[in-house]
Parts: sequence; structure tokens; C-alpha cells
Amino acid sequence: MQPTTSDLFKPASFIGGEWITSNTTFAVTNKATGELLADVADASQAHMTQAVQAAKSAFASWAALPAPNRAQLLRKWYELMIAKRDELAELLTLEQGKPLAEAKGEITYGAGYIEWFAEEARRLDGDIIPANSTGQRIHVTRHPVGVVGAITPWNFPNAMITRKAAAALAAGCTFVVKPARETPLSALALAALAKEAGIPAGVINVVTGTDSKALGKVLTESPDVAKFSFTGSTRVGKLLAADCTSTMKRVSMELGGNAPFVVFDDADIDAAVNGAMLAKFRNAGQTCVCANRFLIHQDVEEQFTARLTAKITELKMGNGMDSDTTIGPLITPNAAENVHKLVTAAIEQGALLRVGGNWTAGNFYPPTLLTGVSPDMDIVSEEIFGPVVTIMTFSDDAEAAVLANATEYGLASYFYSQNIGRIHRFADALQFGMVGINEGAISNPAAPFGGVKESGYGREGSKYGLDDYSFIQYRCLGGI
Ligand code: ADP
Repeated sequence: MQPTTSDLFKPASFIGGEWITSNTTFAVTNKATGELLADVADASQAHMTQAVQAAKSAFASWAALPAPNRAQLLRKWYELMIAKRDELAELLTLEQGKPLAEAKGEITYGAGYIEWFAEEARRLDGDIIPANSTGQRIHVTRHPVGVVGAITPWNFPNAMITRKAAAALAAGCTFVVKPARETPLSALALAALAKEAGIPAGVINVVTGTDSKALGKVLTESPDVAKFSFTGSTRVGKLLAADCTSTMKRVSMELGGNAPFVVFDDADIDAAVNGAMLAKFRNAGQTCVCANRFLIHQDVEEQFTARLTAKITELKMGNGMDSDTTIGPLITPNAAENVHKLVTAAIEQGALLRVGGNWTAGNFYPPTLLTGVSPDMDIVSEEIFGPVVTIMTFSDDAEAAVLANATEYGLASYFYSQNIGRIHRFADALQFGMVGINEGAISNPAAPFGGVKESGYGREGSKYGLDDYSFIQYRCLGGI
């Protein structure tokens, strides 16, 4: 498919309901072939300010719209996404690289957040609390915070936006997002569908550009932005959170992870291997919830490694548009080089290369497995963001808990066991926002997604998801 033939191909920023071009453009490439896909408008800081003003102007009437009406518009947006799922998925695969089946999965998953929050829009409930004295009433009401600014990454070009936008719009906020420069087309296609759904001008704005620092500054420092939500690296998240302090805005940070994947000696090994494939190789290992460290009980390590190795050798790396591809390229050759540096250093430090590792250039990194990995290696402490399994062993539960928690991150974690007592004890010991127990794929709209420690704060999805976009007002009524 040539993306230019699609109705959803919109290579300009979407501001105040209009497609806004710029004097300059930037190239978006096909990640499997390197070919040019599009020249997209390179927005300036003035464009970003214009988008914030559009969102500010649209706020009062959007917030005042009865919840069922907002819900209906979100529902329509969801339905259009589902109707255009194949087209959205193709665009996503072309600009991001993941296999088409995975891209379709992301569209369904991303749309799921819009469906979920279309329903939650009606449940921005308040409270009535028994008063402390006669003649008084205590009422608690919830209100949209205002304009929301967001910055999103390239690994889920669709879903990382819908998770934020749907919650913001459901709560009655208006929204401005700067998608990653690598993958702006999916974001712009979403905006086109929002417009078609009848979501009013200015309620959702997408600003595409290469000067992420300058564009980000408007979102983090403008007094007209009430809340800032970021998904990306911990390094950048810290900078942006600091910038938000000057206006004391609300902040949500969904940052990096370093997920442990623990397999106990009582685990169902086949289930653990299947879960490991999902938790490690989805999106070629480029997700913040990817298993980064495999901790396998010493008595089952050989068995687990042998079965996982067999599965890994079945993976078919290639162009995501080819139907037999099960693993695509990394986002850039630079990303592959970084992964390779970690692998090479680990081997030099004594790890054993069992599969893959043969990379010289380009952005396709072969699925790789290392055993004999030790906790002091960089590949253990850093987020790999690539298709590399690192296997360490442990001998008892206490050691597994110490190893699992030995990271500054606290996003996802996984473990496999058939013992119900151990399941509760070990989950209690894990310092992570999310725990997959006998599950390798845990994210869905009904569940609260988010981390602790340096993985950030705030929750996306679930009944908790509106909290970050609303404030509570306590009303003390006297003289009754
Ligand atoms: P990733 O490794 O996923 O690229 P980043 O944190 O570098 O993680 O990028 C995530 C998002 O943050 C992207 O949209 C990127 O353009 C944006 N970004 C990166 N650096 C900055 C910055 N200094 N200010 C604002 N946005 C930034």
C-alpha cells in the first residue's frame, strides 16, 4: 500500500479542526525498507501555542456537554477506528515496523481505550459525606482539569495516544498531543477519524514536529495547560517533570521499565515459555513492559532454556507487511547498535551466546538468547529495548525477590508458579505497578496501567484512569 492513497493520510498538524501545514517538512520512512513514506509538516513553537489556544477555546463547551453526549462522540470515534482497522494497521506497520497482525492488535487495543472511556465518561461520580455538624452538608464533585498536553513515543503510535486522549476527553478535558517524529502518521489518522466522528474543533489537536524540546516546552510551561502526560524514557520524563513545576501542573509519567520474568520450579514450563515469547518479543522487544531479565529457578533452567530456544528459532524476522513475518525491525539502525553493544559487552563479561547475536548493520536485530548472565552486567541494569533474552538463575524465593526488585524501575513484572501460597507471597514482595502471574500479556483497557519508582506515576485505563484528568471539589453547604 502507498499511504498517500489512503483517506487517512494527512501529513499536516491538526489544530483547531484544521490541517495546518508548515514551511518545512520532515521525512517519515518505511522502517522495513528505508523508503520515504511521507513529508510531514514540521510544526514550530508558534503552532504548538496555537494548538494550546485552540484547546483552551474549546474547553468550556466540551466540559459543559452532558456526559452521555461526550460518550456518544467517543463511541463514534471508536466505531470508525474499528471500521478502518485494516487501513490504520497498514499505516502503523509501514511507519513503525511491527508485523501487520500485531499492528491490527494494537488498533483493537487502542480503540478499546476509547470504548472503555466512552463508558466511563458517565461515571465521573461524586460523593456525599456525612457532615460534622447539624445544618451542614458535605458534597464532593469531580471536574475536568482543563487543557491536557501529551507527548507520546513511537513504539505504540496509536494506543499510547488513545490511552491518554480517551480519558482526557471523557473527563471533559481538551487535548494536545505531540507524537514521536518517527511515527506521526498514525496520530494524524486518529485525528482525521476524530473529526469524522464529529468531535468538535479544538477538542483534540495533533502537532507534529522535529524540535521536540521547543514543542515540549510549550506543553510543560504554558499556564494554559492544566495537565501534562508523558510516555517515554525515564531520562526525558525527569526533564519534562521538572519543567512542569513552574506552573504546578498535574503530571502523569509512564516511563521506562526493567521487567523481571521469574519462573519457579513448580511452574508449568510450557505456559512459561509461551508467556516469555509474548512478554519478550512483542514489537521486537520494544515495549516498556517487555521482560528484560529472566530469573529461572536453577532446577528448571535447562528445560526452560531448551524449550524457549526452540520457540525463538521459529520466529521469522522480516518486513511487517509480509504475512509470514513474526518479528519486524527495530525503529532505527542506532537502536540495533545499542542493543548489540549490550549483547557484546555481556559476552565479554562471561555470558554465553546461545541464539542470534549476529548483527553487523541495519535495523533488523536477530532474536537472541544469552545464558550465564549475572546481575552486575549492563544488559541486566539497562532497558534492552530489543529482542534479547538474558537468563539468570536463582535457588530460593527470597533470592528471586531480591534479584527481581534490584532495579530503579517498577513498571511490569511477571512470574510463573502453580503454588497459590507462593503466588500471594511473591506478588506481595514485588515492588512493581503491574504483576503478570502465569500471564505474559497483561495490558488491557479495564486494568490500571502504570508504574512505581523511576517508572513514574499515574494510571492509564481502568476505573482509576479518570482520576488523573479530573479534580475533586469539596463543597461545604451550611445553614441548612
Ligand atoms: P524513546 O526512547 O521512546 O524515543 P524518548 O523519551 O526519547 O523515548 O521519546 C519519547 C517522546 O518524547 C518522543 O515523542 C520524543 O520526541 C519526545 N522527546 C524526547 N526528548 C524530548 C525533550 N527534551 N523534550 C520534549 N520531548 C522530548
